[in-house]
Amino acid sequence: MRLILFGAPGVGKGTQAKLISSKLNIPHISTGDILRQAVKDRTELGKKAQEIMNRGDLVPDDIMIGIIEDRLHKFDCENGFILDGFPRTVNQAIALDKLLDEMNIKNAKVINITANNDELVKRIGNRRACKSCGQIFVLKDIEEKSNCPNCKAENSFYLRDDDKEAVVRNRLDVFRQNTAPVLDYYTKQSNVISIEGLGSIDEVSTKVFEELKIN
Ligand code: AMP
Repeated sequence: MRLILFGAPGVGKGTQAKLISSKLNIPHISTGDILRQAVKDRTELGKKAQEIMNRGDLVPDDIMIGIIEDRLHKFDCENGFILDGFPRTVNQAIALDKLLDEMNIKNAKVINITANNDELVKRIGNRRACKSCGQIFVLKDIEEKSNCPNCKAENSFYLRDDDKEAVVRNRLDVFRQNTAPVLDYYTKQSNVISIEGLGSIDEVSTKVFEELKIN
């Protein structure tokens, strides 16, 4: 299965992508995670991306398209993949279409997870990332000073710079201006499945699994 998970920041794309990925055993490709890893490793890409990400703006299309081209050609994508955070502009969507065409992939599905902005700002402010493994948690599910349930790192939770309220508001503006048109692009040419993203992780994943006919 080839999936494109679409939706505003904080809507739960990453969480749903992880669940689908472990159920179907196909890679979860998050461009945000790839960039954060590059920042952590202080690579050339990381140096270019860091400031842009801290402002909540978009990394240039040519860089992002190059990253996805390389990633989708890795052998683990042969049986499918889940894209999370890409495409974020119509140019990226056009480049992805071209790439999938070249790879002879015709059946990519788009899942659009929806939620209103106020809810998203609230949700993002209430989440914490682990500095060590990058996994995101909801504040109420963890103690801020406890060990990470995923990688066991000590005292590693933090509020990402781009999860601070002013940056979140900018990310949502960027989404409205640059990324929302991607949904129109897909709606015109394919079959977009829209799912309401409010509700618990389980409620949303039940709907996603039903739509994808995954048991
Ligand atoms: P995310 O974790 O998907 O919210 O991504 C975090 C940040 O990485 C975004 O706010 C952007 O600065 C950058 N980013 C991730 N994916 C893309 C993309 N497809 N195009 C441009 N910038 C991206």
